[in-house]
Amino acid sequence: MLKKIIQNIIRENNKAPEAVQCLWYSDVNYLALDVELVFKTKKGYEKKRVSTLNYMDFENQKELSEEAERIGKTLAKKYNAEFYFPSPNEWSRDCPDWWKSKKAFKCEDCETPIIQTDSKYLPKKICYPCHLKREQNERLKNDQTTEDRYSFYNINLEELPILSYSTSLENLIVYQYLDKKEIENNFIGNFGTYNIDRNKLIELKTKLENEIDKILLKYNKPELPKRISKLSGTTNIIYKKVKYELFSHFDRNLIHLISNYNDYQKAINEEQQYKLFGLKEITKRDDSILRYINYKCKGECKVNEVIENYNDVISKNEVKETLERLVEVGCLLSQNNKVQITSDGKSII
Ligand SMILES: [Zn+2]
Repeated sequence: MLKKIIQNIIRENNKAPEAVQCLWYSDVNYLALDVELVFKTKKGYEKKRVSTLNYMDFENQKELSEEAERIGKTLAKKYNAEFYFPSPNEWSRDCPDWWKSKKAFKCEDCETPIIQTDSKYLPKKICYPCHLKREQNERLKNDQTTEDRYSFYNINLEELPILSYSTSLENLIVYQYLDKKEIENNFIGNFGTYNIDRNKLIELKTKLENEIDKILLKYNKPELPKRISKLSGTTNIIYKKVKYELFSHFDRNLIHLISNYNDYQKAINEEQQYKLFGLKEITKRDDSILRYINYKCKGECKVNEVIENYNDVISKNEVKETLERLVEVGCLLSQNNKVQITSDGKSII
């Protein structure tokens, strides 16, 4: 790719660039990094894009950023030009072009040169990623908002065991179809578990089966309108070895029931079990720490690593208190100054 880019530049322009710049471009569903050459002109400067690296072609933002940096630096070296990549770690799209960067305003928090926003709703002295970080830190400091979380998951599946997850019991299929009182009795305190053994799973499956059969009595193959809109897309699903074509949007409840039914049938055949886990009043702090241990530390780390990560935001004691609470409710295991996330912990984040 790099060879092709260089050949294109040589063919089109003999003039050497003053700088090579990497700048982010993004909107709601698009994130990319442009590698551009900056040329001096009679009037000032102009830029020429040599490559656009799209986020979708990479595993993560870090890989995308590293590839842009590799291309940019190689070009800069080749032309003996300045390399300018103002925000390699954050997708800050408000950075100015290289020739405006020296005089540009610098973000108060990360010192990245930025074009100050004219929005009434955003702070002018910091870049957008730092604004988000400040907001998140504020929420962690205050730690006021809480929500309840319930998950229904297959305890035998290590990878992706979560079947459903909700902030209230009422939204879960297991609650809708099994004995509500019996389930509620397990969630009187701050947290609870309700094990679904083979018999309960068969009962649940049978109830779903009755419901699905009733709906399918009225089944007709969807007639597609001439102009297919977003809402009229269809999907195929197998139920008791028969393939049904259903509207992805209008039939989503039925699709949900069938895919649950299929999962339970498989679990019954393979002697697997489900579990309903719930934790009430989970705070931003609980959620952030669980996510940090699960994603950043791959499920396990030293207590000190967690304390260090939240260094400027919450105190050592606050981190320790949160960890103790998470151990108490079964989301973490703690041993020899180490913490490890449990399946219950994983299932609610
Ligand atoms: Zn910043």
